[in-house]
Amino acid sequence: MTHNVVSVSGGKDSTALLLLAIVQEAPNLQAVFADTGHEHQQTYDYVHYLAQATGVPIRWVKADFSEQIARKRLYVDTKWREQGVPDSIVEQALAVLHPTGIPFLDLCLWKGRFPSTRARFCSIELKRNPLIEQVMMPLMDKDQLVLSWQGVRADESLARRCLPECDEVGGGLFNYRPILRWNVSDVFNAHRVMGIEPNPLYLQGMGRVGCMPCIHARKDELLEISKRFPEEVERVSEWERLVSKASKRGPSTLFEADTIPGNSCEMISINHDTHGIQSVIQWAMTSRGGRQFDLTRIFADASSCSSIYGLCE
Ligand code: SF4
Repeated sequence: MTHNVVSVSGGKDSTALLLLAIVQEAPNLQAVFADTGHEHQQTYDYVHYLAQATGVPIRWVKADFSEQIARKRLYVDTKWREQGVPDSIVEQALAVLHPTGIPFLDLCLWKGRFPSTRARFCSIELKRNPLIEQVMMPLMDKDQLVLSWQGVRADESLARRCLPECDEVGGGLFNYRPILRWNVSDVFNAHRVMGIEPNPLYLQGMGRVGCMPCIHARKDELLEISKRFPEEVERVSEWERLVSKASKRGPSTLFEADTIPGNSCEMISINHDTHGIQSVIQWAMTSRGGRQFDLTRIFADASSCSSIYGLCE
């Protein structure tokens, strides 16, 4: 028996993927959403809408880092002390090293750092692994063929351009990328043809829908987020404070220090407050060159539609 597992993120590409699977009547179709705990509420609402509008139930899975955090507590309490780490740092780490149940935050507490464009462990730990462990492996254990549908497109990056449409992972698991040759118009057309609304975040200046914000968020996107969703910036700011306490190195930030031109990665150890998300947002408010505030962009009406994909009517 073949199982078709579609990974849904709440974004445009995975929605088109699910719609294609429905049209093609893929047998034993399962739709799965890996919750990072770092998505916007509108994305959570959209995943519920998608299940209701398509009639395909979407199963929610999430990673659990309780064991890793428990092991880290032990390590901090023994090895850090043996290594001469000051008691004040050991105590502040032990105070925050408790699982919160929020996968993204717990992952960062365990690692003592945020993921970055150079160390992108977030998608592996928060999306790929829970899908493989909780969905694919139980199916593979029963000697079934599993097609893992992935909503990647060749025009997104050079690396994706080189991907095959289908490849075997092993043990009866195959990666299947049926929208590899689609472009953005094809994706939104699939929504229109099937009568499915796109995630409303695309009408609010977001180029990508996933974590809020993603470590790959663009400057314009960060400005939109700060204007429309300041509470998300506050949340990340608080997470930066917590994760920094769980780190022997000290300050840890969602965006790398050199996100702001002129900053170097080494500077992050100097002052967390000058390199955290709040300072990145300040930079996002500037015009090119990063020296002057761009008042036109800052005071543009945040309640209006602003789709970078031309979705506004
Ligand atoms: S959306 Fe961005 S931050 Fe979230 S898991 Fe994917 S790469 Fe990481």
